Amino acid sequence: MRKPVIAGNWKMFKLLSEAVGTVLALKPLVANATHCEVVIAPVFTALKTISDRLEGSNIKLAAQDCAIQNDFGAHTGEVAPVMLKDAGCSHVIVGHSERRQFYGETDESVNWKTMAALAAGLTAIVCVGEHLAERESGNAEDVVRKQLEGGLSGLTANDLERIIIAYEPVWAIGTGKTATPEQAQEMHGYIRSCVGGSHGEQVAGAVRILYGGSVKSDNIAALMDQDDIDGALVGGASLEATSFAGIVNYR
Ligand code: PEP
Repeated sequence: MRKPVIAGNWKMFKLLSEAVGTVLALKPLVANATHCEVVIAPVFTALKTISDRLEGSNIKLAAQDCAIQNDFGAHTGEVAPVMLKDAGCSHVIVGHSERRQFYGETDESVNWKTMAALAAGLTAIVCVGEHLAERESGNAEDVVRKQLEGGLSGLTANDLERIIIAYEPVWAIGTGKTATPEQAQEMHGYIRSCVGGSHGEQVAGAVRILYGGSVKSDNIAALMDQDDIDGALVGGASLEATSFAGIVNYR
């Protein structure tokens, strides 16, 4: 039984006071959501404050990125996974397409970050997904398979227990263009078969695969009806408490 995960990525939105306001509004709206895990990912500067505000609630905290290592040292601007854990995070998003596209993230750095996150005791939400041109040229599966091979390289079956994969077709992120449930299911099934090939059927059957890309309260149910879709990574529609709660409470 794979417990669904609904995760909200707040990207670079919200000053601290706004983040606190959203969280306080969100808590009662999702308090009865026992059917899924609820995760929110505010900016770094809000993590500790939000963590304190989440105490006793069923909402878990994620960072949106992390350093490639946990060793303290001369790494100006970086935040180690162990520091994120210290600030109250249980999860961290790794390899989001915006980081790949605009901040030089590679499959290799995704792999380092994932290993560092696991070493710190965090669950890594590892993002993969193809660009529109790659889909249109028939290469979507190849692109995603290579991202998985690179990002999960060297990880053991045990490690995979603390990995969540997020399939986020880049053409669907923030565009209002959602993959159809059938398109998403096809790729999720493919991802599960890739994990089966690399880590065995048992791991493949247990790993949770989230869909991300313009998920809203009116399309989540159809996505969640698909066999291999185990939740969602939500950007825009997670910024407002009622709209995110509408996704969390999809059933
Ligand atoms: C995201 O940023 O991970 C995302 C899926 O964004 P949106 O829901 O806005 O498409």
